[in-house]
Amino acid sequence: MEMANQQIGCIVGDCYYYAKGNKCQADNILVTTNSFSKNAQEADIGFEMASELSPQEAGASSKTSCLTYKPRNSSDVPVGGA
Ligand code: SF4
Repeated sequence: MEMANQQIGCIVGDCYYYAKGNKCQADNILVTTNSFSKNAQEADIGFEMASELSPQEAGASSKTSCLTYKPRNSSDVPVGGA
């Protein structure tokens, strides 16, 4: 299936990929269940591994997480300007 110009809105303002206007500027992201994300914190799991992971059930939107989140250092300029 061809993806049509996907855009991602995000309000996680301290993420490295966060951009003005509440947009995610990452080329790709990995979204998981919170329980997966909790266990994956030490492992370096990202979008590249998505096709190898088993799907899980979250049950509610509040139980999903963006695993691509990366803290922005205070010296980093947010993508798209401050
Ligand atoms: S990587 Fe995730 S947390 Fe960071 S801006 Fe994109 S969607 Fe938000």
